[in-house]
Amino acid sequence: MDMDIDGTDGKPYVLIEPRKLPVTKGSRNRVNYTNGESSNSLLNTFSEPKTGIVYDRRMRYHGNIHEDEHHPEDPKRITVIQEKIKNTGCLNKMVLIKAREVSAEEACLVHTEDHWDFVTKTAHMSDNELIKNADEYNSIYLNNETAFCARLSCGGVIELCKAVVDGTVTNGFANVRPPGHHAEINEPMGFCIFNNVAVATQCLRKHYNVEKVFILDWDIHHGNGTQKAFYNDPNVVYCSIHRYENGHFYPGDKALANYTAIGGGEAKGKTINIPWPRAGMTDSDYIFAFNKVVMPIAYEFSPDIVIVSAGFDAAEGDPIGENHVTPSGFGHMTHMLKTLANGKLILALEGGYNLDSISKSALACVKVLLGEPPSKLGPINPNQDCLETIHQVIRTQSKYWNCLAPVYYATEDRLPGQLLVDMAEMLKMYRTRNLYSKYKLIPVPLSDGKLGQRFTNLACCRADTRATSNSINVSNSYMIDTVYLYIETILGNNHGIIDVDVPPVVNQPKNENQDLKDLLIFLWDNLIEATNPKKVILIGAGRGCRSLAGLINERDYSIMEKVVCTIMIPGPNEVPSVSKRTDLSTWYQSNANVLLPANHPFWEKKIKREHGTCSKIEDLNNMPVQDMLVHLHNDMFSHINQILVNGGPANSSNEERNN
Ligand SMILES: [Zn+2]
Repeated sequence: MDMDIDGTDGKPYVLIEPRKLPVTKGSRNRVNYTNGESSNSLLNTFSEPKTGIVYDRRMRYHGNIHEDEHHPEDPKRITVIQEKIKNTGCLNKMVLIKAREVSAEEACLVHTEDHWDFVTKTAHMSDNELIKNADEYNSIYLNNETAFCARLSCGGVIELCKAVVDGTVTNGFANVRPPGHHAEINEPMGFCIFNNVAVATQCLRKHYNVEKVFILDWDIHHGNGTQKAFYNDPNVVYCSIHRYENGHFYPGDKALANYTAIGGGEAKGKTINIPWPRAGMTDSDYIFAFNKVVMPIAYEFSPDIVIVSAGFDAAEGDPIGENHVTPSGFGHMTHMLKTLANGKLILALEGGYNLDSISKSALACVKVLLGEPPSKLGPINPNQDCLETIHQVIRTQSKYWNCLAPVYYATEDRLPGQLLVDMAEMLKMYRTRNLYSKYKLIPVPLSDGKLGQRFTNLACCRADTRATSNSINVSNSYMIDTVYLYIETILGNNHGIIDVDVPPVVNQPKNENQDLKDLLIFLWDNLIEATNPKKVILIGAGRGCRSLAGLINERDYSIMEKVVCTIMIPGPNEVPSVSKRTDLSTWYQSNANVLLPANHPFWEKKIKREHGTCSKIEDLNNMPVQDMLVHLHNDMFSHINQILVNGGPANSSNEERNN
């Protein structure tokens, strides 16, 4: 087989004759191939995965008419890639698929006849006409070879897609130029003349019985042309990951490239935009987007074939893209996409302007197409801008894809007639009802209006929350309320109890600690002082410890008289302290047991009287406070009972618990 990547005869050198297509709806535009191998030998080895490549050196002829002016869409782009693939020995393992010119009929499955006619005419225009016409379009240059190269580039992608569909190869790489994804239905744009991927997609669907196509566009730029070609088509998913910058990055259509552009009519959700708000995104951000959005949607869609608009201008070192995707990152994305559609995957070159970056990136993809594992990535650690972008995409797309967890937490997501119920309110109501029916505990009426608003019927819940969404997955969520264990023990010993349970809230009020302290003072003054119990035990847990220390400071003499024991379980929170005043701090040291995990940073500090008597407990390391309460329960109550027994009868004592 002739492997010359840069033959000089100008003739096509592809030596593979495709197998007869299983289904065709018409035989027009079929190309007669020069035959190098018998089709029988292909049939015999059909079960082995094969990787195709399309390349034709004549695609270099399209160039800037001002030959001394360098243009980033450099004809060398495809030759450096081809040389890299050849020099590493990969080309020997690939099946060369012949490029050929797209026909008018094929191109016009996407483009208008006017567009086809205009491109055709450029072959015979004078230099002045070429310059004048190019200037009328957005980021286009033309010469007399442009039309031929554009037809070859587009036809090359079609041929590779056909070879994948008919089983000649399993997957493949189209090393073609000019690129395609900016080309609009009726005009060239952004270095693109015909929309190669869009035309190939329509050819497969019209002529080769392909129903559903998944197009993934990882070029740094949004593929405006491809998106528009399929915007209302429910059988084509167009998914683009691109630099967006609120519409300031090329092609600069703020509405079209945002995550809010989702497809129209029957095709809502079939356009998926992942718009990066800035440059500098890395492998981590792309892999995160793949894991959270691209792959779940691709599996749910279940395409017949996957085509990648494989620009390499998001690659590390690209002067235009300024992102940092490494060859390994591109390899991993290719690897993931190979799992879809029976492995039917085509990568078609789009942009990419650093010759070194694009050749290394393309090689990494080709190696994965050939069956090599992608090289190892570092730990995936997406940045905050990535997390927020993905959150917005999921929030928008979850209405159309079951695989994406619905994220409705803002009031604007409500549909008319839907009631938004606050989970914390729901749990408070449940808890109040339960405490009454089980233990006849009743809510303490709070005469203070402000306290009443904030603290009436407080409940505590722990739920399965998603790190990027703050949403609660109700089916996986349980209310773990350790308080019941304590209530049962205390009531079982015929003691009284005041239970104060404050759930953590997403937006912690600024004066949360002061409010909680005010609540405890209110309860002390109105319930404890009023009923005058002989003995009081204070138990604090979590954030509540600090407010409890505040109560001790505010009601010091009354507390020193009545409180026989204080137990503080701050968990990972700060260790509270009372006033340094000698009588109070001395009392607190002998009265208060502070139970701390051995790895609490507090142990590195100097422990003072006003911190109480602190105990280091290995078992509590990294344990949630709720679990600490269960773990310490038995020891704590044997300690409490000892104090109560040694100090006299306990029937009239109250225990106050603050969590
Ligand atoms: Zn690009």
